[in-house]
Amino acid sequence: MDQTKEPAKVPMTYTCGDCHHENEIKPRDPIRCRECGYRVMYKKRTKRCIL
Ligand SMILES: [Zn+2]
Repeated sequence: MDQTKEPAKVPMTYTCGDCHHENEIKPRDPIRCRECGYRVMYKKRTKRCIL
């Protein structure tokens, strides 16, 4: 289990603008859907996780 101490290294979750597949994109990775190859990705809003 890795803890999120460094937010910069945590991959962001993007939703594909075409097929709406969720992709985890690291800061240095190209923004591109792994399912359909679409390049328009929407940054998913991180909601507070309430347990
Ligand atoms: Zn896609």
